[in-house]
Amino acid sequence: MSAVVALEAAPAAGVELALDGDDLALKAASAPPAAVLDALYRHKAEIMVLLRPAEDGWSAEDWQVFFDERAGFVEFDGGLPHAEAEAQTFACCVAEWLHRNPERSPAGHCLGCGDREHAHDPLLPYSTECHGQGGLHSRCWPAWYEARQTKAVSALAVMGISAPVGRK
Ligand SMILES: [Zn+2]
Repeated sequence: MSAVVALEAAPAAGVELALDGDDLALKAASAPPAAVLDALYRHKAEIMVLLRPAEDGWSAEDWQVFFDERAGFVEFDGGLPHAEAEAQTFACCVAEWLHRNPERSPAGHCLGCGDREHAHDPLLPYSTECHGQGGLHSRCWPAWYEARQTKAVSALAVMGISAPVGRK
């Protein structure tokens, strides 16, 4: 049972979930099925993330709606095979997450290493659309980009949006 499935199974099993500070509070009139309790316990950290409004204000449900909309658009209007459409849809979600969760660095400092801009080592803008959000040394770009992608993929996974099989 995944975190998302456990979260949906809980109310069906008569379990009310709530955040209690840094803990997960369970309320149930009678003992819930062991499988549900076990899943809630195992995925506690993820479930708490799901219950808490995300930094960008989008819940798991918002992401699912976004994913379904994009998937329908890509698959039907784009006329693509299902697997290809799924991969494109996931890429859209990653781009949207990155856009909604920008990283900022203090002016004149690199987002990657935190070092200053030097005359011989200028900072490249992080995004062509969003000026003033910081930049990176050219050598810091690849590692930073990779880390951002990984962060987006894991944040989306917590929201129930998984990378298509065979991709990361
Ligand atoms: Zn740097």
